[in-house]
Amino acid sequence: MPFYPSMPEPDVENCEKWRELNGRPARANPSRKRRGPARKRAFALFIKSRQVSKIGNTSPQELGGRNVHWECCGKQFEEVEDIHKHVANEHMSEVLQQTEAIFKVLPQNNIQLMRKHDSSDNNVALPQHNGTKEVFDISKWLPDISHINFEELTCAAGEVLLYYSYCDIEEPQVICTWQKTLCRQLHFTGKVRISKEGINGTVGGCKTATELYIQTMLSHPLFQAMSTEDFKRSAGGSHCFQDLRVGVFKEVVPMGVDPEKVSYKDAGIHLTPEEFHRKVEALSNNAQIRKDTILLDCRNFYESKIGNFQHCIAPNIRKFSYFPDYVDTNLECFKDKQVLMYCTGGIRCERGSAYLRSKDVCKEVYQLKGGIHKYLEQFPSGFYRGKLFVFDNRYAISANDDVIAECRYCGVPWDEYRLCSTSYCCQLVLSCVHCREKGLLACCIACQEKGNSTSETQSGRPRKEECECTQKRVRIPVMFPH
Ligand SMILES: [Zn+2]
Ligand SMILES: [Zn+2]
Ligand SMILES: [Zn+2]
Ligand SMILES: [Zn+2]
Repeated sequence: MPFYPSMPEPDVENCEKWRELNGRPARANPSRKRRGPARKRAFALFIKSRQVSKIGNTSPQELGGRNVHWECCGKQFEEVEDIHKHVANEHMSEVLQQTEAIFKVLPQNNIQLMRKHDSSDNNVALPQHNGTKEVFDISKWLPDISHINFEELTCAAGEVLLYYSYCDIEEPQVICTWQKTLCRQLHFTGKVRISKEGINGTVGGCKTATELYIQTMLSHPLFQAMSTEDFKRSAGGSHCFQDLRVGVFKEVVPMGVDPEKVSYKDAGIHLTPEEFHRKVEALSNNAQIRKDTILLDCRNFYESKIGNFQHCIAPNIRKFSYFPDYVDTNLECFKDKQVLMYCTGGIRCERGSAYLRSKDVCKEVYQLKGGIHKYLEQFPSGFYRGKLFVFDNRYAISANDDVIAECRYCGVPWDEYRLCSTSYCCQLVLSCVHCREKGLLACCIACQEKGNSTSETQSGRPRKEECECTQKRVRIPVMFPH
C-alpha cells in the first residue's frame, strides 16, 4: 500500500477532536510520542479501508495510481489530500483506537523497525533488499502476550478467520517459521499456505487470539496492503480443524499453473459486493444481458451444489487444479462474453480470472472481491442461495435458511454433508436423517456394498476414490453454450 509520504500527515497533536477524545492535553501523555509510528500505521490503514478501485479499462492492480478514489461517510474523494483531511476531521477516534491496538500488539523494537521502514519506503510497502534481514527477524514480529492469560487464548468459543494476500514474498521460509510460531503462540488450528506469490490462511481460535493475529499481520511490512476487512470472520474456533498446518508451497492456492506464467497481477476487475449484486440483478432481469454474460462459480462441484448464485455456471470439477483445463475445453463458450466470477473468499478468482484473461477471448472478466463470504455479510438474502461450503469440520456456514440441495437417496431437501462411511472413500455425502437411520451412510451403492464386504474377504483395500461417484464424473466437463 502506498504511504503517500509526500502528503502532509494530519497534525494529530493539534487536532481538537483527538485531544477531546484523549481526555487530556496531548503533551501530557508521556508515551504519546512512542505511539507516532503506530498512529501513522493506523491512519494509513484507515485511509486504505476507504479506498475503492474504479471499474474501467485499466488494471485493478494499479492501486495508488490514477484509478482509485476514496469513499467515506457517503462522500467520494478524488484526491488523497481530501480523504486525509476528512479522516483527520471526522474519524480520529477510530484511528486512535486502532493506534492503541497496534501499539499494544507490538514490542517496542518493532515500532523502531516500523519507523525505519516507513521513512525509507517511497511508495511501496514491500521491504527493500537492504532491510530484509532485520524485518525478517521473526521474534520481532510476534505479539507480546504476557498480559493475556491462558484461558483467554484457549476458550472454546471463538471464530475462524479466512484471509489471503497476494504479494511478493522473497523468503517464504522465514514467513513460514514466523507464522508457525505465531499460530502456536495463539493456540490456533487450521492451515496457512505461504508462497512467493503471497499467503493464504484459514485459522481457528479464540477471539482475543484472532484479534491479536489480525493486528500482528497488519503490522508486518509485507502485509501492509491488507486491511481488517480482508479477514473474513465466522463463528467457530480451534475445534474446527484437526491440527495446525503451516507450509511453503509453489502456489498460494493450487491451480497447477506456475505463478510466473499466470500471475495474480493479471487478475480480473474487482467488484465490491454491491457492484456484483447490481450486475447479477441486471442479469436476472434482462435476457439479453444473460446471453452476453457468464456467471461463473469457480469452486468445486460439491461446494456449488449446496449454495450458488442463481443463473450461475458451476463446473463439475473436483478440485481447482482442473479449472484451467475446464477453461481450455470450453473456451468457445467464453468468447466475447462478460464473465462474472466468484468463489468462497476471492482467492481462487484472483488467479482463475488471470488464467481466463490470459486466453484473451472474453469481453471482460470481473471477480467478486472478498468472495461469497463478503457478499453474504452485506446481502444475507441476496442472489446467493443456500449454504457456503467451508473447508473445515463445519462443512458449511449459512446466512439464511435456504436449502437448495437434496438427499442423495430419497430426494428431500438436505444440505448437510458427512464423509462417506467407508474408510477408504473421501467423498462427501448428502444423506438425510431418515436415510442415515436406514443405514445409508455411503456416497453411493458401490461404496455401500464395498463397505459391507470389506470386513469379510477383501485382502488389499480397494483403491481410494473408486466408486460410482468418481467414475460418473468426467474429469473436465463440457459447458453447453446457452
Ligand atoms: Zn468518513
Ligand atoms: Zn433421505
Ligand atoms: Zn464413498
Ligand atoms: Zn461413491
